[in-house]
Amino acid sequence: MRIKKFICYNCGAPKINEYKSPYVVCDYCGSLMDIDYTIGMDVWNISGSRTLKYQKGKYKFENKLQQLLSQGKQTEYQNLQIEYWDYYYKVFPEYLPPSVSNEAKYKVYLDIAADSSTDATFNKSWEAENKKLNEFQSKLKYTVAEGKSVVTGESFFPMAEFYIAYLKKSFKGFYSDERYKLLNEFLPEQIHLKMKLSSFVQIWIPYLIEKDADKFLELAGFKQQFIEIEKPPGKEQDCYFCKTNLFIPEGSYQVYCENCMKLNAVSSTFKCKSCGGENSVPENPAKPIDCVFCGTENKLIRPLFG
Ligand SMILES: [Zn+2]
Ligand SMILES: [Zn+2]
Ligand SMILES: [Zn+2]
Repeated sequence: MRIKKFICYNCGAPKINEYKSPYVVCDYCGSLMDIDYTIGMDVWNISGSRTLKYQKGKYKFENKLQQLLSQGKQTEYQNLQIEYWDYYYKVFPEYLPPSVSNEAKYKVYLDIAADSSTDATFNKSWEAENKKLNEFQSKLKYTVAEGKSVVTGESFFPMAEFYIAYLKKSFKGFYSDERYKLLNEFLPEQIHLKMKLSSFVQIWIPYLIEKDADKFLELAGFKQQFIEIEKPPGKEQDCYFCKTNLFIPEGSYQVYCENCMKLNAVSSTFKCKSCGGENSVPENPAKPIDCVFCGTENKLIRPLFG
């Protein structure tokens, strides 16, 4: 079968099962492995009335936020940002990363979203960068090509490169902040960065000629490759939660249900490769684990994919 090439950075597995959310979840270890920005775009366009409703709501938030900003009320601004992000994910549940799987993680996630927006607005150290970004934006040049209005590559790429570097820099801070330690566990930096980048890519792709769009996808890390693979052996099984039929590839520990967006733990124990003792599978099966009986390190999934 021909599939889009996604390799799990945690366990090395390719993506096998079909998916319908923009988040690609590993069929072997259950971790969030990548973002498929084209699906993100489909979600946005699937219901015009929903997107319109969202835009109206967003407009109200923006007005209030603007007010608080002009009054210099940073705490209120931040609290309203939390409300805004909550609103956003209530309207577009598909955009919530599946690894944000409980209330505690959701809270951390909203806090960070609010914090980063507030920081970008109030923190003086970003002022120069924001100014630079605006400058790049004001220098964008438009022309008509391939039957549509497009932005010229010459004016676009300096802005895109600057923005990507800017995002990377702003992320570093959050990921080294003790308050957000939990973040590393459920939303690794590289995936989070891709999430942000994917909205940027979605916005600009329609305004680029094909050749530039290609170059842009490459730059943002979204260049999609396809590979031909044999469907691996496995079995069918119903989702524990919603009874949807799932394909469980052989050697898998956790399979994500695209229907109810929950992880199914497929195997809860494994036999140590050295002493044969029965151990419990850790929460993240992609991490090497020491046998409780003999101490030998076991890699549960990696050996399957060299
Ligand atoms: Zn994996
Ligand atoms: Zn399900
Ligand atoms: Zn052992």
